[in-house]
Amino acid sequence: MVNSFRAADRFGIQRVLAPLGVLPQQAERLDASLPMAEDELWIEVESLNIDSASFHQISTACGESLEKMASHIFDLVRRRGKHHNPVTGSGGMLIGRVSAVGPAFPIQEKPVKVGDRIATLVSLSLTPLEIRKIKKIYPKTDRVDIEGHAILFASGLFAQLPSDLPESLALAVLDVAGAPAQTRRLVQENQTVVVIGGGGKSGTLCLYEAKRKSGVKTIALDYSDAGIARLKALPFVDQVIQADARDAVEVMRKVSEATSGRMADLVINVANLPETEMSSVLSCRQGGVVYFFSMATSFTRAALGAEGIGADVDLRIGNGYTSGHAELALELIRESSTLRKLFTEVYCG
Ligand code: NAP
Repeated sequence: MVNSFRAADRFGIQRVLAPLGVLPQQAERLDASLPMAEDELWIEVESLNIDSASFHQISTACGESLEKMASHIFDLVRRRGKHHNPVTGSGGMLIGRVSAVGPAFPIQEKPVKVGDRIATLVSLSLTPLEIRKIKKIYPKTDRVDIEGHAILFASGLFAQLPSDLPESLALAVLDVAGAPAQTRRLVQENQTVVVIGGGGKSGTLCLYEAKRKSGVKTIALDYSDAGIARLKALPFVDQVIQADARDAVEVMRKVSEATSGRMADLVINVANLPETEMSSVLSCRQGGVVYFFSMATSFTRAALGAEGIGADVDLRIGNGYTSGHAELALELIRESSTLRKLFTEVYCG
């Protein structure tokens, strides 16, 4: 029961414990305790969908032991008051049921009521979270079922879980909703689009969205045999390249072959590992755009690397939020039976 409230604080700055005065995303430690503020949402959490780069890092650091990963995640959240991986800097998202809605929460703008099941669309790296128990880790889907609670600030974004799609499917799609929405903005008719790490969640959504524009040629690059097999079965992918995205010269050579030397107008990087910046830059034509959605991207490596080889390309940082992104991502999965089948088979296990 919530009887009293903290004062309203749209960005949740009062929940920062250290260092004081910064925004929750920059903070080392947050306070996730009651009482809630009058403009907050209190969520009883069911699952965390850990960001792919972060899950991968934790899994590697724990030698892929689920038991070690559970204590690692539990300790991380107890220490920081949020699931903010200090190595990758990233978080993920969560699903849960609304336990209380503060009287000043902007429900006109963001309709919600107690009992609604929602997915947060702001990063766990800024979401106050307390875990009481880790129930299960799903290594194939980067999902962790927990008992615990979280706070959403008045400025926070969320989506109601759709009733016509299985929850795990909706979660997988919403997790990367920013990527296809940005793709829609960036791709123009008759362009050549290369997606680095194209066989994953965001990659396949971006490829599908790009292909919706007339005359677009889609080229997907991935590394593993499984990823390549997945991509070859997709009707909206025109060409598939197997290469290691960390090998910039090899990637450049293969993209050059695939584009008869013209290179891509737009390169989208969604590979979930570091050191892939230069393969993206080198795959792009002069004057083209490179869009880094991957959280493993280093701004320094991308910017200095492009300068170092005289690449006059437009480097864009992948904003996880674009207006209407959740609706668009769900629309794609409803529209394409191929995408839906792929997501169900690969990410809903
Ligand atoms: P995902 O499903 O794991 O896809 C990543 C893809 O990269 C996979 O197809 C993977 O192939 C491929 N890959 C791995 N190593 C590779 C290599 N050496 N060369 C080429 N390809 C390689 O990940 P996701 O969920 O789409 O997320 C992609 C990235 O977006 C992650 O870094 C994630 O953190 C980031 N992200 C960003 C935001 C944002 O707000 N900007 C939001 C959510 C996620 P295999 O599976 O075959 O190994």
